[in-house]
Amino acid sequence: MEQITNFGDQRTLAYCAFCGGKTGTRDHCPSRVFLDQPFPENLPVVPACAECNSSFSIDEEYLACLISCVLAGSTDPDKIGREKIAKILKRKQALRSKIESSISVVEGNTIFEPEHNRVKAVLTKLAQGHALFELHESVAREPDDISVFPMLALTEQQRMDFEQPVAAEVWPEVGSRAMQRMLTGQDTDQSGWIVVQPNMYRYVASAVGYIEVRIVINEYIGCVAQWE
Ligand SMILES: [Zn+2]
Repeated sequence: MEQITNFGDQRTLAYCAFCGGKTGTRDHCPSRVFLDQPFPENLPVVPACAECNSSFSIDEEYLACLISCVLAGSTDPDKIGREKIAKILKRKQALRSKIESSISVVEGNTIFEPEHNRVKAVLTKLAQGHALFELHESVAREPDDISVFPMLALTEQQRMDFEQPVAAEVWPEVGSRAMQRMLTGQDTDQSGWIVVQPNMYRYVASAVGYIEVRIVINEYIGCVAQWE
């Protein structure tokens, strides 16, 4: 990804993106567990406090492993597509057992029943980071609305609505990355999504009276988070 300098108001960057507390560290957003090597250069980073920075990583690892297991239909490291995830599952037996225990077979189909709270916590955190990085909006609180879903569960119309970002009726803050992307199209695909790594991670953040962030991980999980 090309680095876009943030020319906007620096005050929002003085606090943790997730809890609004004092910041001492910086966190990659998205976390590298969702990406494969070689990593894109200049990954977005946001300010974070040490506590938030470390507390999310276990849940992020859980979600990344869960998605790979669902896509493989198995927790067997030899069947997992991503080498990094296969290594984690080999090393962390407890995590593998945890995911294994969430599998059931219904009418011949493998069904995973994830820990929804953890999945939601990770997507909330990712959306908070994208809002701060792209829009300069600090949303260090629970979203007013968040939905997380398998992309396959969307109807054709829902999919079209989801893929088409909200038209920016309100222009992004002058100097923010969102504004610069709007002017240059940097790192974005035709419909305005920011592709961090193809097939791995993409997102789009917009401010149309309210803050909205959409995320797709592995083209499998989709999320829409909104803050009034
Ligand atoms: Zn924090």
